[in-house]
Amino acid sequence: MTVQILTAPPAVEPARPTRDLWTAVRRGLMCRCPACGEGRLFTSYLKVAPSCERCGEEMHHHRADDAPPYLTIMVVGHVIVPMLMWLELAYEPALWIHFVLWLPLTLAMSLLLLPPLKGVVVGYQWAMRMHGFDELSDEYQQGRTT
Ligand SMILES: [Zn+2]
Repeated sequence: MTVQILTAPPAVEPARPTRDLWTAVRRGLMCRCPACGEGRLFTSYLKVAPSCERCGEEMHHHRADDAPPYLTIMVVGHVIVPMLMWLELAYEPALWIHFVLWLPLTLAMSLLLLPPLKGVVVGYQWAMRMHGFDELSDEYQQGRTT
């Protein structure tokens, strides 16, 4: 009598193409598709295209949520606050000068930085195969059927 030892087959994931993180993040920063770098990432100011117009990569899987505003506040704050403090300590200008200078500059920087930083977040999520960007994930399969 022979005894057979049954073991589960090794869990081997199918080979998938690698996704370079920095290339995807750079493409996102340029508001381009993280997969091909040619298609536009946004259909309007902050609305991510459901899929790339060039390569067809689905981008509706992103979950950027609050990360782009958070990053924008962090960057703008680290630029504006030191300049404001320097101006105040060096020249002690009238309060209206601060309002006229820093409020428009803060608004302009925030509006200009928000789309590229959202692109960075989407590029990061795509490269790391987060959420539905992983072809093997349930989210990807659910996204395919709906
Ligand atoms: Zn593309």
